[in-house]
Amino acid sequence: MPTLSSALDPRSVIVLAGVMGLLMSLVMFSMRRSYPSSIRGLREWTLAPLICFGSTVLFAMRGVLPDVLTIPLANMVLFQGCITYYAGSQLFLGHARNTRGWSIVTPVLGAVLFWYSQFQPSYTVRLAVFTVAIAALFTAHASLYLRHPLTHLGLRVMTGLLVLQATVAALRFVTVLLGEAGTNLLEATWLQVVYIVMYSFTALLMSIAGVLMATDRVRVEFEFMATHDPLTGVLNRRALFAQSQKAFARSQRGETPMALLMLDADHFKRINDAFGHQTGDEVLRELAQRLQGPLPASAHLGRYGGEEFLAVLPGLTPDAAHAVAERVRADLARPFDAGSRLADAGIERLTVSIGMASFRGAADTLDAMLARADAALYRAKAAGRDRVEVA
Ligand code: GH3
Ligand code: MG
Ligand code: MG
Repeated sequence: MPTLSSALDPRSVIVLAGVMGLLMSLVMFSMRRSYPSSIRGLREWTLAPLICFGSTVLFAMRGVLPDVLTIPLANMVLFQGCITYYAGSQLFLGHARNTRGWSIVTPVLGAVLFWYSQFQPSYTVRLAVFTVAIAALFTAHASLYLRHPLTHLGLRVMTGLLVLQATVAALRFVTVLLGEAGTNLLEATWLQVVYIVMYSFTALLMSIAGVLMATDRVRVEFEFMATHDPLTGVLNRRALFAQSQKAFARSQRGETPMALLMLDADHFKRINDAFGHQTGDEVLRELAQRLQGPLPASAHLGRYGGEEFLAVLPGLTPDAAHAVAERVRADLARPFDAGSRLADAGIERLTVSIGMASFRGAADTLDAMLARADAALYRAKAAGRDRVEVA
């Protein structure tokens, strides 16, 4: 009966792991071109398995090539591959690349491994040193993810794999201390085989997690683009209607209050005429920014069209909504900050007129509410602008 260790000899497993890494690198490479360039770190995630593949070739040539290539160099290349994975994660998560400290560890590691293979050969010391270094690197890598909200499956898989890698490296270190390391990498003890198989699979799964993460990111970006106004960043008309309908349905089911604020910039055309369209755009962005301040967290703000916005206020009584509208109006009437680009351009301030409508019970409709808010807005304009009118 073949045992586990004789059926899976380390050399074949290492070669297989390398080939899987190479394939994953190709998958990453071809996917990279179809992802938007805003997703960073994919270049590093393509390179990392390629570098690790290089290390597996060296490891597998143990006994064929000189030891200096298959021991210190192979480990250095593997370590550098893991650093490259880490760099990819830093970039992907929106940080600057910061792995210089780790790259200094690589030659130090190489020197130590060189010493303990050429002058004082000891597999135990080499393994102990390498497992400590790699466990520390995986721990740093894992804690980078643990500092982020793990909102998507890909992120959770990646974090889990890194924690697993760090744990396995630490356990391997413990087995070294217990004298279970074996005499060299290719000795087929069952523990050795388990470790090598484990590493190969987690390396493969890490590439899969990377693809998942990048795909999640693309989906989030596209979802955002499909629901938000590109100029002001608030909801676009389509998403705004979806939110209004949801809020209205909830009010109708529970007979709970809700209100709509229809807001329109006063004399906006004059800004365009006097300062140009680009400055007009900037004023619109500032306007959308300022509008959000007084709105409660439950509110949905969207661009209804041109210089017109709609705020949906679920759960707010007419009095509460009126108070919010009044605060929005007062906030906007404040002059632009002295020294800001708009103030420098000579635009003193931009007021808004607001029409408000409240939910009137089961017989009410969303269309009717919108029409009432619109009519109230029209009255606010007619009455001199920079004011709130209630339907
Ligand atoms: P009122 O106080 O009566 O609302 O006057 P107004 O000038 O704000 O209203 P009007 O409807 O006459 O003009 C709205 C202007 O808003 C006209 C249009 O050029 C401008 N506008 C609409 N969308 C945009 C935009 O995305 N960017 C810029 N710069 N201007 C826009
Ligand atoms: Mg206007
Ligand atoms: Mg208008």
